[in-house]
Amino acid sequence: MKIMKFGGTSVGKPERMKEVAQLITKDDTRKIVVLSALSGTTNALVSISNYLSQGDRSAAKLTIEQLHNHYHQFIETLFSKAESKAKAVEVIAEHFEFLHIILRISFSEALNKDILAQGELMSTKLFSVYLEEAGINHELLPALEFMTIDANEEPQLGAIKVKLAQLLKKHADKNILVTQGYICRNARGEVDNLKRGGSDYTASLIAAASNATVCEIWTDIDGMHNNDPRIVAKTMAIEQLSFDEAAELAYFGAKILHPTCIWPAQQENVPVRLLNTMQPDAMGTVITKEAGSVGVKAVAAKDGIIAIKIKSSRMLLAYGFLRKVFEVFEKYKTSIDMITTSEVAVSVTIDSDQFLSQIVKELEPFGSVDIEKEQTIVSIVGNEIAQTDQVLQKLFESLKAVPVTMVSYGGSAHNISLLVPGVYKIQTLQLLNSGLFGL
Ligand code: ASP
Ligand code: MG
Repeated sequence: MKIMKFGGTSVGKPERMKEVAQLITKDDTRKIVVLSALSGTTNALVSISNYLSQGDRSAAKLTIEQLHNHYHQFIETLFSKAESKAKAVEVIAEHFEFLHIILRISFSEALNKDILAQGELMSTKLFSVYLEEAGINHELLPALEFMTIDANEEPQLGAIKVKLAQLLKKHADKNILVTQGYICRNARGEVDNLKRGGSDYTASLIAAASNATVCEIWTDIDGMHNNDPRIVAKTMAIEQLSFDEAAELAYFGAKILHPTCIWPAQQENVPVRLLNTMQPDAMGTVITKEAGSVGVKAVAAKDGIIAIKIKSSRMLLAYGFLRKVFEVFEKYKTSIDMITTSEVAVSVTIDSDQFLSQIVKELEPFGSVDIEKEQTIVSIVGNEIAQTDQVLQKLFESLKAVPVTMVSYGGSAHNISLLVPGVYKIQTLQLLNSGLFGL
């Protein structure tokens, strides 16, 4: 069994969707094909939901109509037979009818999730009609029948395994199975989702649940790069990464892969391959248990970071101080990315200001609290990076012109993280590209 996941841009144009049909029929391996919504759809659905929650029905209606038009044009080009076009018209009519009905009912969180699910439901159904037109034997597996999360919004891998196995057995005669990324059912049985960008997560969960030989993530770039190609002129695809390295890179800003998506594949040891729909024969990046080589592999940056410094002379020789500090963050379910300590101060970074004022208020009794917003974490990732010859020397040598405000080194064997003011991000990434990679 192999898993092939195609993102929004890979199915976002009729000609792209046709290429996907070709890619999934290249070999005879049994496969589960996971699709995102057509590019732009989930953003539009989020806007519709937001308008409705603000009571702006006319703006919601307008966005629904624009989206409806987009889908009409899409199927106009995708299909050549009148019969399949009619089927596709029916598919989108059903979903847009639902979107028009919601204009008249009161908004709720559950309704919001229903709205967000429309994108993947439509992309997979349209793709299925296209496969039918092209004479490609397949079965559509509804993700809502097997993809579930528990009350803490964590996927239930065990339950997913059992339900998926039943479905795969039921359709044992089918070699190509198509399903929706992103959407799932929650503990209350309602439609829910795995958060924005969650289709990668779906693919990895299915790969783990079906004991797949490989989980292929098809996007529009030829793998994970050593630096951000949108910022730095010369970057290169990384051939091989370990699960740990990939997790650090995904978490610290490499947009190509969703950070949560690593653990299921890692747990069941299923290799993940990042491939490019536009260049299907390019090597891409393979993520496996082994790292392949030692040393610096990539840098990535995460923006919008808030640094919090708590300074107190009472921390001097005191025990239990850090626990009290951490408990405040735990109380507000705010995770800490970086941490550094000195004898009288502790600095941490967080990436959400949702509970910032409450957190600061509860930290103030411990000492003086300083906040710096708009910071960027620049992460340098590589297997056994800490033991790599002269890595720190090269790092600081290249960043002489940058005011680094925090350094985290030694926490893991494959990561060194720096905090820099957000305005220095571009310069930092460029300097590291030449200093560490000679590019
Ligand atoms: N369609 C969803 C989103 O845009 C999920 C995904 O594409 O991964 O966030
Ligand atoms: Mg994505």
